[in-house]
Amino acid sequence: MRSFSYGRADSVQSAVKDIAGNQAAPDAANATVKLVAGGTNLLDLMKADVMRPVRLVDITRLPLKTIEETAEGGLRLGALMTNADTAYDERVQARYPMLSKAILAGASAQLRNMATNGGNLLQRTRCYYFYDTATPCNKREPGSGCGALHGVNRIHAILGVSEHCIAVHPSDMAVALAALDATVRVTGPGGERAIPIGEFHRLPGDTPHIDTTLRADEIITGIELPAQGFAAHSTYLKARDRASYAFALISAAVALELDGGTIREARLALGGVAHKPWRDRAAEAALAGQPATRDSFRAMADAVLRDAKGYEHNSFKIDLARSVILRAFEEAAGLEPS
Ligand SMILES: Cc1cc2nc3c(=O)[nH]c(=O)nc-3n(C[C@H](O)[C@H](O)[C@H](O)COP(=O)(O)OP(=O)(O)OC[C@H]3O[C@@H](n4cnc5c(N)ncnc54)[C@H](O)[C@@H]3O)c2cc1C
Repeated sequence: MRSFSYGRADSVQSAVKDIAGNQAAPDAANATVKLVAGGTNLLDLMKADVMRPVRLVDITRLPLKTIEETAEGGLRLGALMTNADTAYDERVQARYPMLSKAILAGASAQLRNMATNGGNLLQRTRCYYFYDTATPCNKREPGSGCGALHGVNRIHAILGVSEHCIAVHPSDMAVALAALDATVRVTGPGGERAIPIGEFHRLPGDTPHIDTTLRADEIITGIELPAQGFAAHSTYLKARDRASYAFALISAAVALELDGGTIREARLALGGVAHKPWRDRAAEAALAGQPATRDSFRAMADAVLRDAKGYEHNSFKIDLARSVILRAFEEAAGLEPS
């Protein structure tokens, strides 16, 4: 058993003070003093001996559990609001239905009642080799190798990989937030800063142990949604091994702004394909001005997947991604599924 100390923060400032000693850590995931929110990921990882913090700072009593209107016409989701309360909030359901659907596609009702918005973004990969401390994993132990590269890699990445890591990010919520161009609000010793969601999660490169750009001495306080929620034409579609309580093999958050039958703006974020929610802005831009037809959406899928690469057990994910993208666009555009 590994011992650790436990404390409870009574303000954002006191939480930041408690994690100030983390400055030498490469990022929040690898800090030795860890914030604990719902605990549904961190405590599992501690029990599996994958994460070994020396101190836990309980932030569950901080006043970050509200949803507020922003001056720009969007919503600010508190970092400690539960996934369930966020997904069932009437404003989120009406204005950002794709986000509500994505959250409800994740985990189970019990887990969503505990899991928080901040913790959801920082949950760690479900790669088997990351969890199994008897195997090599560059994310868990930098320089030890990647067990998945030549191992059982059925659930692994097809885009944005490196020779050091082919793990995928498991969050459903983050995929919808990526499509919405949300912003993560954080506070550290130097004050507040805003991180666009597209810059929050990282590709593995040669530092796969660094999941995000959140510094080890920063706390997430909220997530801001822009005014544009694509409520009329959007969806979240998740393909998985079981109908519930399973992580995405492939998921797609799709949003369209239509002018009659013509696409004015298109957004697509993919989950289950990479180390971060995957966007291809060039492929999105190419859809603007095109008719909202299956042919346009098929061309979009081909463009997004042009560099996709399968491994021994996961090549099926490329075809699956093509189908999920097409089906999600059909749903968002109100077309009959092909
Ligand atoms: C069986 C099972 C199935 C699941 N299925 C899915 C699924 O299908 N889809 C999906 O998306 N998720 C799924 N999950 C994951 C679940 O959504 C996450 O465990 C949860 O969202 C994490 O939130 P938490 O508040 O419990 O985080 P915690 O476990 O408390 O923390 C996670 C990490 O975030 C850090 N942290 C937490 N809050 C903050 C903050 N405000 N600022 C800075 N750092 C912070 C912690 O230090 C820790 O590193 C599943 C989990 C389980 C156990």
